[in-house]
Amino acid sequence: MSILVYIRNVGGTIKKQSLELCSYAKAMSDKLNLQVVGLVIGEIDQAELETLGKYGMSKILLAGDAQYNKRVNRVYTQIAEQAVNATNASYILFPDNNQGKAIAPRLSVRLKAGFVPQVMDLPESYDPFIVSKRAFTGKALASVQVKTERKIMTPMLNSFGLREAPVDLKIETFAPQIDEPVSRLEIIDKQTNTEGINLADADIVVSGGRGLKAAENFALLEELAQSIGAATACSRPVADDGWRPADEHVGQTGKSIAPNIYFAVGISGAIQHVAGVSGSKCIVAINSDADAPIFEVADYGLVGDAFKIVPELSALFRQFMADK
Ligand code: FAD
Repeated sequence: MSILVYIRNVGGTIKKQSLELCSYAKAMSDKLNLQVVGLVIGEIDQAELETLGKYGMSKILLAGDAQYNKRVNRVYTQIAEQAVNATNASYILFPDNNQGKAIAPRLSVRLKAGFVPQVMDLPESYDPFIVSKRAFTGKALASVQVKTERKIMTPMLNSFGLREAPVDLKIETFAPQIDEPVSRLEIIDKQTNTEGINLADADIVVSGGRGLKAAENFALLEELAQSIGAATACSRPVADDGWRPADEHVGQTGKSIAPNIYFAVGISGAIQHVAGVSGSKCIVAINSDADAPIFEVADYGLVGDAFKIVPELSALFRQFMADK
């Protein structure tokens, strides 16, 4: 028996969220005495895979054929199912992102396994198996009991954190049998925003709302973000008005993120916005209106004019980083 962890292969690299999943699985394996096995699909460097051993993964199944470089959810689900059977996995972990959301439910149907998305912490108990998940767009936690023999979960980013636990790692080639064409569609062009830090993986996010008044004023936030190595985000109207790129929009209808620190600058804190950021470990709000709803969810609040506070903060952070 094992705990199988799907490792997201991002163009030949492994991101923090996968290392966190390893840490999560290792903590489970310490309780259950099960081996932590990773499934990696697509071409990737051996050196990149070896980082997984630092976080408690003792074996990797590598389906590294170049034909799998393009993610096709239907095919990845088949590969995951075969990996579950090959490792006799009773717990299967995916990241709580677009890949996990696309593959984990398909796999749960194929395996008739209980599936818990948006997991917030380690299981509360193993027998019976109970785990807590985000509910009502983050306003509540639900404790869920999974009764099937196999259990699939998608722990959220930053729900557990990174914990080093070095073990010897064995990498095995895995050759799945795929009984249909791998690709029915061909992507002929793709434009990726490669500037800045990826929002989904960022530890710190600096986000702006309509309180910044105009697109050009977001230079202030970019400056703040650069001073602390943060990614930038925004509220929906800001993206709708074209002040910021659409892929920065967070909230109920945008990205759902859970960084360690979320700066909300000139954002009122509407329920639909908070839905996408309430998983953040610490929310810092800067708003000129002391009654703005964002202060109800903020851990730290600064009441005042963002145009005055933000440049001062950037200068302080730059100084702090230089003194470190
Ligand atoms: P505002 O509500 O206009 O707030 C601006 C804030 O800036 C105010 O609190 C003001 O006090 C402050 N401010 C003004 N000047 C300054 C200054 N100089 N310094 C500091 N602060 C200042 N919104 C999202 O963000 N994400 C979503 O995913 C989303 N999904 C939605 C889905 C639906 C179905 C609906 C109906 C709405 C959705 N919305 C979403 C919109 C949401 O309801 C709010 O309208 C939106 O979040 C407000 O954006 P804002 O906070 O930037 O602007």
